[in-house]
Amino acid sequence: MNSDHLDKWIGRRKERRENFSLVSLFTLLIQGDITVLSTCLTVLESTRTDDQVLAKQLIESALPLSGNSIRIGITGVPGVGKSTFIESFGKLLTDQGHKVAVLAIDPSSSENGGSILGDKTRMTELSVNPKVFIRPTAAGATLGGVARKTRESIYLCEAAGFDVILIETVGVGQSETYVHSMVDFFLLLMLSGAGDELQGIKRGIMEMADALVITKADGDNEMKSKIAATAYKNAIHLFPPKKSNWIVPVLTCSSINNSGMQEVNKSIEGFSITTKANGWFAEHRKIQDSFWLKETLRDKILNEFFGDEKWLAALEQQEKMVYEGAISSFQAADNLYKQFKG
Ligand code: GDP
Repeated sequence: MNSDHLDKWIGRRKERRENFSLVSLFTLLIQGDITVLSTCLTVLESTRTDDQVLAKQLIESALPLSGNSIRIGITGVPGVGKSTFIESFGKLLTDQGHKVAVLAIDPSSSENGGSILGDKTRMTELSVNPKVFIRPTAAGATLGGVARKTRESIYLCEAAGFDVILIETVGVGQSETYVHSMVDFFLLLMLSGAGDELQGIKRGIMEMADALVITKADGDNEMKSKIAATAYKNAIHLFPPKKSNWIVPVLTCSSINNSGMQEVNKSIEGFSITTKANGWFAEHRKIQDSFWLKETLRDKILNEFFGDEKWLAALEQQEKMVYEGAISSFQAADNLYKQFKG
């Protein structure tokens, strides 16, 4: 089926809200068609019960074909140059023959439903590159839910033949913890500043990073970036050694000049070779599986309570009593828990 036919085929089914069959969708997905991949991710994000059943089947079918990629997290404060970096770095990767999927976790999406990241309009060249798939952040009620859907998306992208997965997030809030728990390599983009190089970003995030890259190392900023890189090198030298035994490099780049991209790529390749040889690469993915098992279970348990009208009504009743001063909040929580446990 060529792409035109496929668009119509999918369009017709969307119009009729007809269920996609697992076999038909999956067969097309593993042929690497971007339209089908996009449809599969929509199914994954859907809250319709029938879609959720299909999503689960899609993931289970994709799992044996997934895993053969490098998953790279990219974080940094808004304005640091993430989108521009992905545009330039993505081009280098596709020139090398890679197929690149760009996903995003936007911490604000669970509050306002909007998406500020992974936006195609901000990656103009990459978005028309046939070897690239760009997907804005998933929608969801909680950041954890959004992150879980993004993680599931990785499997579908990999089954569709994408061998580099870039996941963009903003270096504020909890989102980078989630991204860190689903990627092999975590890239922290940083700005050079005058004298305050170590102030801008939390130490915890710096400790998670597998590489620090100072962006916008061009024009007047080039020298400042080099000075900042030296300061960061000295700072991370004092951090505890990583379980991966990987020595974190500090690099500089300019996305508008396409400089420094080769060095970033070489670092990631070096990391991959080193950690595959010392066993960390596989071990890390297993640790991540455990993390997501607990995360998914926690979500299910919370949903059982907060997704049920009966318990929401009971909660409201107890809240009222707490508000009126009749019982303490601890007592109310205890009462609800006992009722819930039956
Ligand atoms: P994001 O919010 O982290 O995704 O940042 P953007 O990629 O949207 O970039 C923020 C601003 O920095 C934009 O105005 C870009 O044009 C600019 N910018 C990004 N990369 C570079 C770079 O390598 N050099 C220079 N001089 N400006 C850059």
